[in-house]
Amino acid sequence: MAHVCLSAARRCKLEDSMLSPLATGITVGLGTTAALGLAYGGFAYAALWPSSQIFGEALIAPPRPGELALTFDDGPNLAWTPRLLDTLAGNNVRATFFLLGSHAKSEPALVRQIAEAGHLIGNHSWSHLNLALTSASRVREELTRSSQALEQITGAPVKYFRPPFGARRPYVLRTARSLGMIPVLWNAMTSDWSEPSTEKIVERLTRVIDRLQRRGRAANIVLHDGSHRDNFANRSPSVAAAGQLLARYKDTHRFVTLDAWG
Ligand SMILES: [Zn+2]
Repeated sequence: MAHVCLSAARRCKLEDSMLSPLATGITVGLGTTAALGLAYGGFAYAALWPSSQIFGEALIAPPRPGELALTFDDGPNLAWTPRLLDTLAGNNVRATFFLLGSHAKSEPALVRQIAEAGHLIGNHSWSHLNLALTSASRVREELTRSSQALEQITGAPVKYFRPPFGARRPYVLRTARSLGMIPVLWNAMTSDWSEPSTEKIVERLTRVIDRLQRRGRAANIVLHDGSHRDNFANRSPSVAAAGQLLARYKDTHRFVTLDAWG
């Protein structure tokens, strides 16, 4: 286990742009308290590292270079999701939206608009708790409540689930599967939720996408059109970044929704 912990810590330092804020905080902890860090690092790797399958299988991306899945988390956002929908429609591209049940309940018309435009809707829990630190019964409630709200609005079953922060334990993924959903993580993310510069978001994601392409893998790209803290959060840089990625890759790559992968 120590070997896994050490290599996980090293990778965290090399590629922390893929991580959620929770995992980045734990990486800092690894540098300061080695003994605790090693033990905690193993847990952090399994619970938070997006490509870890230790706590159960999750969909990331298949070995299909040339395919890109744009995924958007934490919406819907009344201010920015409509603009994003316009950008996607202008490029004739479908994306995947991992919606928060609590936001969806407040904006049912916008959720219907997303679905009617042909995008895939996934469950991102009800209230964006860290599910790795949440009781099994509360996890089930978070997932069930969100799926029920989304299904009530769109009339379609919800088949994909992305855990908030990517944080999971075996029972989190088991619960999602028992509710008919495939757990999903990612392999291309940057801190777009806190980055005011569209150019930096695009530059970082482009670097990751091109590296995945060289390694023969598709890219499962995360951007945020919403925020779990504020359903009117400014997501202008993220929405503009999506537009630039579409312009950059639309002639050379195929944009897919996650149901193309499993
Ligand atoms: Zn989220």
